[in-house]
Amino acid sequence: MHPFQYLAPTTVKEVVSTLSRYGDRARCLAGGTDVLVQLRGGRFEIDALVDVKGVPELMELRLGADGLHLGAAVPCYRVYESPRVAKAYPGIVDSASIIGGIQIQSRASIGGNLCNASPSADSICSLIVHDAVARIAGPRGNREVEVAGFCVGPGKNVLRKGEFLVSIFVPKPAARFGAAYKRFIPRNEMDIAVAGAGASVTLNAKGKIVAARIALAAVGPTPIVASRAAASLLDREPTPEAFARAGDIAALETHPIDDMRGTADYRVELSRVLTRRTLAVAAERAKGAK
Ligand SMILES: Cc1cc2nc3c(=O)[nH]c(=O)nc-3n(C[C@H](O)[C@H](O)[C@H](O)COP(=O)(O)OP(=O)(O)OC[C@H]3O[C@@H](n4cnc5c(N)ncnc54)[C@H](O)[C@@H]3O)c2cc1C
Repeated sequence: MHPFQYLAPTTVKEVVSTLSRYGDRARCLAGGTDVLVQLRGGRFEIDALVDVKGVPELMELRLGADGLHLGAAVPCYRVYESPRVAKAYPGIVDSASIIGGIQIQSRASIGGNLCNASPSADSICSLIVHDAVARIAGPRGNREVEVAGFCVGPGKNVLRKGEFLVSIFVPKPAARFGAAYKRFIPRNEMDIAVAGAGASVTLNAKGKIVAARIALAAVGPTPIVASRAAASLLDREPTPEAFARAGDIAALETHPIDDMRGTADYRVELSRVLTRRTLAVAAERAKGAK
């Protein structure tokens, strides 16, 4: 492996100046469960690994009146071990609790999962259906990007030279909101999704769907926002028929490829089924939410 420096800045400003200095010869290190594997595998060569866990903003997990402030390097276990977060953000907790196993979850962050921008990443669809926003710092100051637009290709994101992800903000859910994420893997755990689906629904006081979001994993070069499928649910009762129809439409919004984990046709079918099932769980949760 090409030798590199380990740097551990403690402020946002220092991270930005370090990343600006090294450009694409540096990478951030959060839990390291992607970047260290990729480095050892020779996927890329760097001169500096910038550990961001010493920056307080990146380790903050705070549930404010406006929503969830999730530091980019907070490990998954802190997300699902917080009862208040689990109650308000069930879809995100579904994802945090299936990434790898317990050991991986004690290191791996949602921020790292997002920045790695894998089409099969398990947290990104959940963030999308919760309307999450990525908060970015860089040489020109701070900016915000909706998570739905953060990934631009396999392993590629919108971050520019010198920029990094500070935190993810997830707005406070509306009343009668529910969300869920499900994936299919060929074994019980420790595998990458062949396909995944995140869904959220908001019901009105009469029980009709007034808002819905659907996002699909591993069926395109980036997580796919299935907006036509979600639109088909508006003003409808949360019935199995409505969810089956949304599943059929979502399947048409996919652009999968054949690979060692499954064929494109198989992924289309999985998207149909996972969308339907995920919507059903999201609706049940919405009925139980205040
Ligand atoms: C055994 C095993 C099982 C796994 N199972 C799953 C699974 O089930 N589902 C799944 O989705 N993934 C899985 N993964 C992949 C990985 O664990 C996740 O993607 C994890 O969430 C990455 O988080 P991390 O904190 O370890 O990221 P890191 O490895 O530290 O970083 C990932 C990438 O993001 C960049 N980065 C990190 N933080 C920032 C930041 N703040 N700003 C800018 N760039 C940043 C890094 O430079 C790197 O390119 C697995 C990995 C292993 C080794």
